Amino acid sequence: MRAAICPGSFDPPTNGHLNIIERGIRIFDRLIVAVAVNMSKEPIFSAEERAAMLREIFANHPKIEIDFFDGLLAEYARKRKIHRILRGIRTMSDYEYEFQMALANKTLYPELEIIFLMTEGRYTHLSSSIIKDVVRHGGRAAEMIHPLVEQQLRAKLCRKEWA
Ligand code: ADP
Repeated sequence: MRAAICPGSFDPPTNGHLNIIERGIRIFDRLIVAVAVNMSKEPIFSAEERAAMLREIFANHPKIEIDFFDGLLAEYARKRKIHRILRGIRTMSDYEYEFQMALANKTLYPELEIIFLMTEGRYTHLSSSIIKDVVRHGGRAAEMIHPLVEQQLRAKLCRKEWA
């Protein structure tokens, strides 16, 4: 059984993330989407909320499991006994960051293989932070995020603004 971990912050998940996950399940028999609990930036959604959105979106995909990881990804992969990591790449700056991360993770867990999927053209500009700005300023996000994510993001941002 070929299993891989697809880790990320997913704050919130965008159509770029969903595309990488959907393409990932055509390559692997099982995909564990691992939501980062500890992030350098303060997240807008709790890890539980981010995982709940992904669970609902992929409810009909038996090959996908949604889980959490806290701390080092290499340690999480070792604990899960999975040595393949799937990541998406958009730009040269993604490449440089991913290259460093991949080398660090391989030092910590030499059996690890990090597999990259290039984004599809229409998702090159998509990031969680751009989506937050678009929705915060009342822009149309229908082509960028799943309707469920849009609804949750609007609710979250409205609540924040009135708080
Ligand atoms: P992290 O904080 O770990 O970088 P993200 O949620 O920002 O988490 O991203 C998770 C993964 O998804 C990364 O590999 C990132 O490059 C990839 N990714 C994010 N947005 C896109 C996109 N629009 N197209 C393809 N891959 C993407």
